[in-house]
Amino acid sequence: MPQNEMSNISNPLPAVRFENVSRHFDQVRAVDNVSLEIRDGEFFSMLGPSGSGKTTCLRLIAGFEQPTSGKIFLHGAEVGELPPYERDVNTVFQDYALFPHMTVAENVGYGLMIRQVPGAERNERVNQALELVRLPQMGQRKPSQLSGGQRQRIALARALVNRPRVLLLDEPLGALDLKLRQEMQIELKEIQKRVGITFVFVTHDQEEALTMSDRIAVFNAGRIEQIGTPSQVYEHPATAFVAGFVGTSNLVRSDIAQKLTGSAQTFSIRPEKIRMVEPGTPVQNGWASVEGTIREVVYLGMFTRYIVAVEGGRELTVVRQNLDETSMDVLNAEGKRVQLTWQRAFDRMLETP
Ligand code: ATP
Repeated sequence: MPQNEMSNISNPLPAVRFENVSRHFDQVRAVDNVSLEIRDGEFFSMLGPSGSGKTTCLRLIAGFEQPTSGKIFLHGAEVGELPPYERDVNTVFQDYALFPHMTVAENVGYGLMIRQVPGAERNERVNQALELVRLPQMGQRKPSQLSGGQRQRIALARALVNRPRVLLLDEPLGALDLKLRQEMQIELKEIQKRVGITFVFVTHDQEEALTMSDRIAVFNAGRIEQIGTPSQVYEHPATAFVAGFVGTSNLVRSDIAQKLTGSAQTFSIRPEKIRMVEPGTPVQNGWASVEGTIREVVYLGMFTRYIVAVEGGRELTVVRQNLDETSMDVLNAEGKRVQLTWQRAFDRMLETP
């Protein structure tokens, strides 16, 4: 693959910029005053629950939708009402949208044929794209003779062969089973690094976003709650929504917060940061401590999730790796009185209560 041809020389202009962009459908604010910058060559994920506006943002970038208000720039130039085919972007959809009557090679070369790229160059580029997705021998097959994962790769090859500067991916791994999805996550990230194209990836799966992204935008109800690297978003969630949506989090609200920290401000603490010890165990400086009763135990093989009822009718979730315990040990823990402690340094104060 002529990677250097496909790569973008480091460009200080953002690949995509939204300036106060809204897209309303009657009363529905699908995208509500969103501003963001996606850097050139970055793997950027839009993460959020169903209906939070991710796909609409992707369609706005592609030009399938027009903003109700605000401006969109691609590589520094405002796109206005530029039609999709005049934008230097390609989209990979979840359902692959391959033509069933064409061979794999014809599917991959379709965009080049439309643009009247000569046959010899077309063949070469198709072969390069198939090699890039590690399916070099599959050109003569029909899509029906491929597995789901292979079809996904062909859809990717079909988009990459056009050498777009920005590739939009709308839940492209959604139809694959978990194991294949995890393999494809790693592979997709590797391909992105190799070709250097900006990837804008839509997903509702937080693990997927954490695995692959350089940065993540967390969407909620048409707005972005936080943009950051996976570790920033996970370790320093800005809002209660982000803390709850990216991974699992315990929200500690006013009364218990007051008791533990002296301030009624809501904070979050991750279940894996909480230790469970015998009640009455002395607590070091800088550690929080609260007693409770194990109300529920969920054995998950590699680790166990404990739901612990603490004062004031509140519950905290604790996750522990099953290092020494057997399933019998952990399941017998239900009803046991415990003390929960964690380093206060892991508390995350949240912007919204
Ligand atoms: P999902 O993960 O389910 O695809 P999403 O985060 O991508 O969700 P969008 O598809 O962008 O969300 O939809 C955002 C909101 O806008 C939803 O309430 C949706 O019903 C609404 N919406 C999207 N497109 C249209 C349309 N063409 N007409 C009317 N409402 C729409």
